[in-house]
Amino acid sequence: MTDLGLAATSNRPLTFDVLLPAPTDGSTRARLGHLRTPHGDVQTPVFMPVGTNATVKALDPDDLVEVGAQIILCNTYHLYLRPGHERVARLGGLHEFMAWKRPILTDSGGYQVVSLGDLRSVDDDGVTFRSHLDGSTHRFTPERSIAVQEALGSDIAVCLDQPVAPHATARREVAEAMVRTHSWAERCLAAHQRPDQALFGIVQGGLEPDLRAESTRVIASMPFDGICIGGLAGDESARQRRETLDVCVPMLADDPRPRYLMGLGSPADLLDAVDAGIDMFDSVLPARVARNGTLWVPGGRLNLRNTRFLDDPRPIQEGCRCRACRTFTRAYLAHLLRADELLFYRLATCHNLTFVLDFMVRIRAALAEGRFADLVREQVALRDNPTADGLSA
Ligand SMILES: [Zn+2]
Repeated sequence: MTDLGLAATSNRPLTFDVLLPAPTDGSTRARLGHLRTPHGDVQTPVFMPVGTNATVKALDPDDLVEVGAQIILCNTYHLYLRPGHERVARLGGLHEFMAWKRPILTDSGGYQVVSLGDLRSVDDDGVTFRSHLDGSTHRFTPERSIAVQEALGSDIAVCLDQPVAPHATARREVAEAMVRTHSWAERCLAAHQRPDQALFGIVQGGLEPDLRAESTRVIASMPFDGICIGGLAGDESARQRRETLDVCVPMLADDPRPRYLMGLGSPADLLDAVDAGIDMFDSVLPARVARNGTLWVPGGRLNLRNTRFLDDPRPIQEGCRCRACRTFTRAYLAHLLRADELLFYRLATCHNLTFVLDFMVRIRAALAEGRFADLVREQVALRDNPTADGLSA
């Protein structure tokens, strides 16, 4: 990686130090790292809550700090459509607009646009799509995606790519989307100018090991600040995901840059991907399931729609430091959920994000103390034999 011009890290908008590399015995590829961005530092492995519309639904920035969010992800597609990236820029950029002082990563809009199905068409130059809000027609090219992200002013921007569903996609389509993603990666690099914003490239290639290897080689050969692994966390099995990571990550073993697996959010999946050597994650999952009444606890989850919780005077999780558990009972939260009260969304989201972010804290502590393998064993045992009372899974 010495020919990528990454050596002069002091001038770059983002630096990444591996504080504790993976052990040489090959028992795990998990590692401890430290990211520096213009809006502060991030300890890795890190989970990024998702603030789709420049808000993590139901939480304000103080709540986000309290749950332990070091960095959040915002969605370029949504902010481009509403309120518009130029308006956000006029109002001082995304940090100022949403009053969030810590780092922000923006995605490229590629995932949302490509997920629109019949509402979009992809060609070699870009993607034409119809707004899910009002049906109006728009076009994203690599250059346009970068311009939108530069206007938003995130600390980390991401290349426009063409993800494909891991399953049900023919090899020819996977290969075409990969080649297009590589060409778009070059165009994103050429278009990107903002000196206080890092840019990550995205590896694609579906579940095809040779295409994944080729994509990893091509993307890693370009001078990005970090490497995203895209096109996973979809309909693939955990085993297929792991097999794909076992192709990509070893090829990056001597690469100095952070590795980001896009879209993964359940604690079991996070633990396995950290073990596979991933440093960064994002997902709407913990917040989305919370709003539906599913709260995560050690070894499983509580479904607060179950009537037995209406008389349960205990907190969601004994010993949890979150706002919901410090103050309220399962009975009260189950009541709020049934009454469709707004407070439920905030409290439930606070709990699930605290749960997943504290889990990442435990992962980092285990890595620092050389007991990551113990943590993995402990989690597997807990899943196989949940002891917490009231678990529904
Ligand atoms: Zn809690």
